[in-house]
Amino acid sequence: EWVDLSEIIETSIEKVKLYAANKGITIRLTEEDVPILLLDGNRIQQVLINLLDNAIRYTNQGMITVNLKSIPEFIAVKIEDTGIGIPEEELPFIFERFHRVEKSRSRNYGGTGLGLAIVKKLVEIQGGQIEVASQLDVGTSFTLKFPKPAEERIK
Ligand code: ATP
Ligand code: MG
Repeated sequence: EWVDLSEIIETSIEKVKLYAANKGITIRLTEEDVPILLLDGNRIQQVLINLLDNAIRYTNQGMITVNLKSIPEFIAVKIEDTGIGIPEEELPFIFERFHRVEKSRSRNYGGTGLGLAIVKKLVEIQGGQIEVASQLDVGTSFTLKFPKPAEERIK
């Protein structure tokens, strides 16, 4: 189906807003107009909610920013938090099933370690990519990139 990413992002934020508010975290959306994309809207919502859930869970206070924009060949959605971050040596493994960063985190923050493995699968099935950047005690960002429809790319 042809989906409006902006709408899906707004619905996803709406669903986790209370969870964020309860932790004193605000979620800000910055966006530019982007073309509609041929994607499975329900799956994308599942992906976004998973990433937002992580951003909230692994942030103790502060701000989450969601940015939607058009870059040369892709539409990009970036979810950036100001949380505990991920150690650099862990970054290559976080998309593996059941991989969780350190035991103390599991105790403090819960979770099963399945979220990101599913997220990556769902994104790639739809022709997209996911990238992560993180700095310990500073924050983490996940960027989703979906190829632009052909007509958009030759404009
Ligand atoms: P769940 O299956 O409930 O999502 P989880 O959150 O532990 O469990 P993933 O979502 O797959 O599992 O994340 C894997 C690990 O990566 C987490 O345990 C956490 O340590 C780290 N992580 C993921 N997102 C973030 C984030 N935004 N900030 C800091 N660490 C993160
Ligand atoms: Mg998770």
